Amino acid sequence: MEYSPSAKELSHFPFLKKAQDHVKGRFASVDSLLKDKKGEALIERALVRVQGAITPKKTFAPVVTGTPEEEIAGYALARIIVSCVNDRQLIERLTRYEAERAYYFLVKEEDWNQNYLQEDGEYSRLCVALAGELGIRITQDRMPLVDYVELVSPLHEDRFHLVNRRLEDGFVAIKKDERYELVRERIRLLLRRDLPHKVPAALCEQLSPRVAQLKKVYQEQMLQQFGTIEESAFPPCMQALVTALTAGTNLSHAGRFSLTTFLHTIGMDVSGIAALYARSPDFDPEKTMYQVEHITGRGGSGTEYTTPACAAMRTTGLCVHRDPLCEKIGHPLSYYKVKKRDRMGKGPKKGEEKGAEVPTPSST
Ligand code: SF4
Repeated sequence: MEYSPSAKELSHFPFLKKAQDHVKGRFASVDSLLKDKKGEALIERALVRVQGAITPKKTFAPVVTGTPEEEIAGYALARIIVSCVNDRQLIERLTRYEAERAYYFLVKEEDWNQNYLQEDGEYSRLCVALAGELGIRITQDRMPLVDYVELVSPLHEDRFHLVNRRLEDGFVAIKKDERYELVRERIRLLLRRDLPHKVPAALCEQLSPRVAQLKKVYQEQMLQQFGTIEESAFPPCMQALVTALTAGTNLSHAGRFSLTTFLHTIGMDVSGIAALYARSPDFDPEKTMYQVEHITGRGGSGTEYTTPACAAMRTTGLCVHRDPLCEKIGHPLSYYKVKKRDRMGKGPKKGEEKGAEVPTPSST
């Protein structure tokens, strides 16, 4: 099927090359845009998008405000803004948000749009067409093994594991809902792949007041999410690192990095983290402060590192004393959130279980 979306439909899938081509030449360059009112409005639109990405509860409206072209430009600007912030978690959140948003419109569009209805009411024409635009081959009920394996490798859910799938002639059987999920995952991977953009420093400087505002909101969101620090809810790996420190054992570089990023993300301030390291036998206040500030983004580079996911922790030998909750999550921060919520008598929320870590895999 030749995929010829309208401008409105392109605004639902602004990452498509067709969408980018559609707006080419319609807007001034980004630095010129920043100097006029129209540009200001587009930046606002982009910031709303990023704020949507960092809000824990994601909602999408079926009606897009503004023109399709503005919506597509807002998408591109949001990516420039998070590239200036250069925080891995924020980038992960934006890409996940964009993939979720596209998924929402994909499902809706197949209901609304007569172009995509077929007599049997089953065949996902838009899904198949979109998959083609994104470089994967999905048919009504199967996809080639080679495409499937690449796509599902970051997914932890058992149902996606090959041992649980039906294979036939080099194809993997997929169900209707899974078609959408796999396209969503493909979008997430593609959008993540080319972020952060290399944005000229002068442009980031121009955007800096907005970026600072965004960082503040983001940090507040993170603190709200993790609330007060509860050491008893730490995952076994982090508890082991704290115990090792307390017992006077020197931590490896990977151990220090993982523990510091973890403590920083759950809201411990730099001096609190340094105080913890004071338990270490080779405690050197200056060196410790330097390392902690570097990892938490206060050391001049501005880059905040994030806690490694469980897979990376396993690679560095830091995943120890796994417990039953570990089987359900893919990230130490997810463990902490779920455990804290359990203690308050609430179960894990959708999206915090394995396969949709909170936050997503990060640097090592
Ligand atoms: S599975 Fe994850 S959370 Fe559990 S101990 Fe290993 S690294 Fe930590």
